[in-house]
Amino acid sequence: MDKAKYIGYRPTWAEVNLGNLQYNFQQIKRLLAPHTKIMACVKADAYGHGLVKVSRKLISCGVDYLGVASIDEGLCLRRERINAPILILGLLLEKDIGPLFDYNLTSTICTDDFAIFLNNAARKRKKIIKVHIKVDTGMGRLGILHKDALGFIKKIHKLKFLDIEGVFTHIACADINREFTLYQIKIFRDLLAQLKEAGIHIPLIHAANSLGVINYKESHFNMVRPGLVIYGLYPKRGLDINLKPVLALKTKVIYYKKVPHKYGISYGHTYVTKRKATIVTLPIGYGDGYPRNLSNRAPVLIRGRRFRISGRVCMDQMMVDVNDFPVKIGDEVVLIGFQGRKRITAEELAQLAGTIPYEIVCGLGNRIPRIYI
Ligand SMILES: *Cc1c(COP(=O)(O)O)cnc(C)c1O
Repeated sequence: MDKAKYIGYRPTWAEVNLGNLQYNFQQIKRLLAPHTKIMACVKADAYGHGLVKVSRKLISCGVDYLGVASIDEGLCLRRERINAPILILGLLLEKDIGPLFDYNLTSTICTDDFAIFLNNAARKRKKIIKVHIKVDTGMGRLGILHKDALGFIKKIHKLKFLDIEGVFTHIACADINREFTLYQIKIFRDLLAQLKEAGIHIPLIHAANSLGVINYKESHFNMVRPGLVIYGLYPKRGLDINLKPVLALKTKVIYYKKVPHKYGISYGHTYVTKRKATIVTLPIGYGDGYPRNLSNRAPVLIRGRRFRISGRVCMDQMMVDVNDFPVKIGDEVVLIGFQGRKRITAEELAQLAGTIPYEIVCGLGNRIPRIYI
């Protein structure tokens, strides 16, 4: 057996279309001024699409920076010899700064104590270390409160072993509140003006997530930080950008049988057949990150037709009543993606599950092999 090619025997997999990734990247690029840089958010295993493969492809497309959530994600990239600049968007504890130096990772800073600690560590190693300062303009998550930001940045600016490469903020309500979003951008802009006045030049300035990129040109500054749209998913409906979904989720009919009328299906018998019917079993469940609350709700595509999941999604399996439609063991089943002219999107599943497309793709587990095409 060729181990390099072995991707598992269970016929459940995700196809990741790197051509579509490139297409989306180019679509995003078209919305930007020529010199605006792109930091692609590849945290959470590139939103479930595979950190390393996706990052490599984006680098070949000309991405300027990669954004990850943790040191561990940064290390994962460095260990695969990915040399692009990497910003850790999350924070770390003082005891964990070693890899910043050893692997050339850029850290987010928003406290004095951490900045001073990092500066001292850098002095000891005789190395200047790059940081991006995070400012909270209304997200209430990470970042120095905007009214304290000027004083903070002036202080950090004096630390000889820290190089302030970037300053950034994050918008909180881009999908529902234009006025507040513009207010956040204004506060950030005011801070930038004050920095200029103070003679502090910071090369990279960024604020825009996917919705910022599409709907708020004011938020572009000289770098943007899209995530979701790179993967071809829409953060909300009605956006003026054409994207191609990168991920498709597929499985195969592993078993089917005829059952009588009024036959209960799956745990709790939340589905009962309305007539004699063929029940198909699919080898995927919530143990793979397929949401259990899609039970009796979500569609699947079999032989170019839409059917609905019947009864509860189990850990490793789920069932579909296909009435008397002829199926065969090994028939391909699409859970996300196209089959013939029919289609199921991650956005549709998210809506049915009462969540957002982010959670659908990030949730897909390690048990599902990713196949790159
Ligand atoms: C994840 C993340 C983004 C990307 O958000 P999308 O909505 O996926 O575009 C941008 N900035 C920060 C700080 C993030 O954590």
